[in-house]
Amino acid sequence: STSLVWFRRDLRAFDHAALHHALRQSQSVHCVFVYDSAILDSLPRRDRRVDFIHASIAELARELRQLGGDLIVLHDDAATAIPRLAAELGVDAVFANHDYEPQAIARDAAVAQALTDDARLWFSFKDQVIFEKNEVLTQTGKPYTVYTPYKNAWLKKMRAEPACLAPYDIEPHAAHLAPPRSPAPPLPTLAELGFEPSNLAELAIPTGMSGGAQLFEQFLTRVEKYDVARDFPALKGPSYLSTHLRFGTVSLRYLVRTLVDLMERGGGGDGAPVWLAELIWRDFYAMILYQNPHVEGSAFKPAYDAIAWETGPEADELFAAWCEGRTGYPLVDAAMAQLNQTGYMHNRLRMVTACFLIKDLGIDWRRGEAYFALHLNDFDLASNNGGWQWASSSGCDAQPYFRIFNPITQSEKFDGAGRFIRRYLPQLKALGDKDIHAPWLVPRMLLAQHNIVLGRDYPLPLVQHDEARKETLERYAVVKVVD
Ligand code: FAD
Repeated sequence: STSLVWFRRDLRAFDHAALHHALRQSQSVHCVFVYDSAILDSLPRRDRRVDFIHASIAELARELRQLGGDLIVLHDDAATAIPRLAAELGVDAVFANHDYEPQAIARDAAVAQALTDDARLWFSFKDQVIFEKNEVLTQTGKPYTVYTPYKNAWLKKMRAEPACLAPYDIEPHAAHLAPPRSPAPPLPTLAELGFEPSNLAELAIPTGMSGGAQLFEQFLTRVEKYDVARDFPALKGPSYLSTHLRFGTVSLRYLVRTLVDLMERGGGGDGAPVWLAELIWRDFYAMILYQNPHVEGSAFKPAYDAIAWETGPEADELFAAWCEGRTGYPLVDAAMAQLNQTGYMHNRLRMVTACFLIKDLGIDWRRGEAYFALHLNDFDLASNNGGWQWASSSGCDAQPYFRIFNPITQSEKFDGAGRFIRRYLPQLKALGDKDIHAPWLVPRMLLAQHNIVLGRDYPLPLVQHDEARKETLERYAVVKVVD
């Protein structure tokens, strides 16, 4: 039999569930990636993610050719292009890996239906998480809504079922890859896709399978210190693997396997279990989205939808200032500059900026979520929504609504010497370590000595945190009764 493997958020040619199963079950396996116009059409013409995918696809195509196969690359509406290609190639079945986002579920259902109508089969597999859907349930058989017991159950299941980490081999079955068509058409250029290059190459963000492997190798040399270093944005603490996890240029099973092996040998220090816990957060939010698709667009806890957010031109101006890093709070502004310039934002700062938008500016969390969705290289609907609902206190297992980050205290605690702030706000470089967190509290004379005029070189604060805090507590009073 012949089959087609459709690559989506799994851009690698090793340890790949759908490819493995297709190779084992068919004599001849074609591979395809579709630049989906249903997704690409809505993006700005310069998008770091498109660059990342473009580079990663080139590497995937090279790798598949080295294995004796090929990658067909289309630019089309995937929902119709896949059944059409399946018919052109005359394959018996299409193989893909599960995607848990509501739109992807609907698209895959449409593709599966079209294939069935055409007497072809659709198979899909778990690949991007360790445990999915309802694999980890409470003792009463319900999906978890609280992280810690979920994590404990997840770890228990992983230990009880080591096969969940086993690799899906490709190489031993590579002889079943269909050889390249001759002549093989060149891969589409960025320009042909309608995009201009972003600054991804200047940022030297490693792409593709080789980039993911390189980042993981580097991270393993510092994983022991992750538990402490991860909270300080000026340090190289985290792994920077999120974009690779998003596009599947790394194998999650391989990451977890490596980590568990390391811990079993007594390595990894205090950092390894903490990092594993972060990967479990990722599984948790994917499960939450799958089980509760209403979180896309509304609060996980419905009572929070009653909150009245600031609207109108003044709120629009506050939102624009937040987006552009002009709030007057240096840590918030430096974080937004990091996002705008690089497409990455440190996890601590995602929490700080999200909390600031919602609880200092009174803006609807969905506006912030949408801004992150547009700008994050690692944008993932489940994790982004989970993070925003956590910050707005409307999510499962979220921060309680009365826990409101103080942006100055956060700055003093996690960027005490102002190293991160200085990197992104060079106009504040000359301020002392103590002064850099709240420039408006610095005597004007001292600012003048450094040639800094607030309102000219750096904004005055948009709001006073203490006042904003009181307003937020009032705003959230509508949910107090049910919380
Ligand atoms: P590391 O610290 O090295 O963590 C390793 C991996 O664990 C990450 O790559 C990621 O896959 C996973 N992970 C870590 N923290 C979380 C978390 N809180 N929730 C879910 N998974 C986690 N992560 C995304 O991948 N995409 C998003 O769109 C996204 N949006 C967020 C929005 C907000 C408001 C917040 C508070 C967090 C968001 N996160 C998101 C989670 C987290 O901030 C990033 O995963 C992390 O900063 C990525 O950097 P890293 O790979 O160096 O992380």
